[in-house]
Formats: sequence, C-alpha cells, structure tokens
Amino acid sequence: MTTHREPLSSVLETIGETPLVRVHDSPDAVPVYAKLESFNPGASIKDRIGKYMLERMLERGDVGPGGTVVEPTAGNTGIGLAVAAKQLGLNAVFVVPERFSVEKQQLMRALGAEVVNTPSEDGMGFAIDRAREIADELDDAIVPQQFSNPLNAEAHYETTAPEIDEALGGEVGAVVAGCGTGGTLMGMARYFRERAADTHVVAVEPAGSAYREFLGEEVAHEEYKTEGIGTHDIDTNELFDPSLVDDIRPIPDREVHEEMGRLAAEEGQLVASSAAANAIAAKAVARGIRDGAIDAPHDTVVTVFPDSSERYLSKGVYRSFEEWEG
Ligand code: PMP
Repeated sequence: MTTHREPLSSVLETIGETPLVRVHDSPDAVPVYAKLESFNPGASIKDRIGKYMLERMLERGDVGPGGTVVEPTAGNTGIGLAVAAKQLGLNAVFVVPERFSVEKQQLMRALGAEVVNTPSEDGMGFAIDRAREIADELDDAIVPQQFSNPLNAEAHYETTAPEIDEALGGEVGAVVAGCGTGGTLMGMARYFRERAADTHVVAVEPAGSAYREFLGEEVAHEEYKTEGIGTHDIDTNELFDPSLVDDIRPIPDREVHEEMGRLAAEEGQLVASSAAANAIAAKAVARGIRDGAIDAPHDTVVTVFPDSSERYLSKGVYRSFEEWEG
C-alpha cells in the first residue's frame, strides 16, 4: 500500500489508498474490515469519483481544459468534484436544493465552485433539469451525472476494490455497502465476483428507503435520517444492478444512531451515519458466515466508512436519538 510518505505534487495524489481497519465488534472467526474514506482530502469516498470521472472525461475529450463541470448534488460528490475540477483546470457549478447542508455548500464555494440554489419544494428532479440547462448555455460543459454515469462504479472497480483485495491478500468473502447511487457497491461487487463468483454481496439502505423495490418487494416509503444512502425513486438510478446483489438490508435510524455512538466511544471511529449502517449490516453478514447461514468463499467481510461525523456535528449526531431525529 502506498503510504504517501514521498513528496507529492498535488492533492489529487492523496486520493485513495485509504486505511483498511478491523471493526473490533465483529467475530474473530469472520472479521469485518472497513475502508476509512474520510482520509481523502475532501474527507469522503466521493473524492475518488470526482477525480476518476473528470480525468476520464478529459481524456475522452468530453470536456477540455477551461471547461465547466455542472452537477446537481447536495453533498459529498460536489466536494469531491470541486477538489478535482480546480486541479484539472476545470470550473465547477453545483445545483443544490436550498434545504441541503449549509456546511457542505460552504465547502464547495471555498473550493472555488459556484453554487446555484433551487427551491427545496421543486426537489432533486428540478435541480437535475436546471443543471442541464446551465450546461447547455455554456460553451464547453459536462454534466457527469453520478446516478447514471458508469464511470462512477468504474472508479471503485479500479481503485477501492483492488486496494482492499491487495490489503487482504485476495481473501474477501463478502462485500457490504450502503447505496446512494450504488456506485461503490456495484464497482466492488463486479471486481470481487470476477475473482470469486460466489462472493456474497449485500446492499444497505435506511429503513424507509425503497432500494428493495429492485427485488420486487413492496416498501412503505418513510423519511429517514441516515445520510448519503437510500432512495425514494428507483427509476432515477441507472447504476444499481440487482443481479449482482444477494440481499438488501434496511437498517433503522435508531440502530444507526446507537452504532455511531458505539463506534466513536469504543473504536475511536468518528464516522457518520452511513458508515454506522454499513457496520451493522457487515457485522450481521459476518455472524451469518460464522454460523453457516451464509455461504462465502472466505471468512472475511469488507465494507466502507464513507465519511466523518464531524461533517454532521451541527445536526446533533452525538446527541440523544430524539434530538438527532429533530
Ligand atoms: N455515504 C455517504 C455519506 C455518501 O455521501 C454517499 C454518496 N451519496 C454514500 C454513502 C453512498 O455511496 P454511493 O453513491 O457510491 O452508493
């Protein structure tokens, strides 16, 4: 694993090669390992796709130096794209519905991006249309569109998965990851299924989210607090391939809140809600393998901790469950 001890010429070179750390509260016989993605310069897993998508799109000539990247995004993807855009000589414009985290919008602006707000009541669909309009008005602009761009999943196939594979000497039995776009899980699932076709693959979503509709299940749509994963509209997702998934596990907010506190207090892990949901599901899969209820080619489970709790302190993540739920 690269340790980044040598002098580097750009912050882009610090993206990826994040640490893989044992989750202590997992069975000794089937340990869970989590990739700590807050070690990236924009402090989330989305730095990987920001760099990867823009580099490939520049190589292909989809956009040229001095051009503009326009993306409808409320969160980590904007920050990841902004970090990469500036370093690659591109401008960045993000279309963000007003209700989304002010902190993340401040970071996008600090990174040199322009933020265009749209009315919250018009929703993400409106923001997507507005991003297209803005791109059409500009001379040389692209909309990467993380929910439909295969380069999103490819970034994880090419970077996240091989890094895990190398760290564990190829001994990966199960892959567990929460799905926002599904890019992380799809990229990792494809990589490890190519190496062992029986790699167990589990998607994670907040209870109340509708990813299980991909499996033909009926889901009661409800609001949830867990951030960065889940969907209320599976039709807007062109990346998620249910044939690559053995199971989709819904995790209730209450369990997520408790696990976030436990991970901090007991394991020194200041990670956010989607990481806690991943930990809960990954530990359940590990127990399933240990007890013989789940078949897997190796006795290890891997997951990702996508970002840090520090990004959500103002939302009360470490206060009582009732305060966090607001
Ligand atoms: N956790 C957090 C905090 C995120 O921002 C995201 C991206 N929306 C995810 C998990 C899910 O990643 P993916 O889009 O690759 O499914």
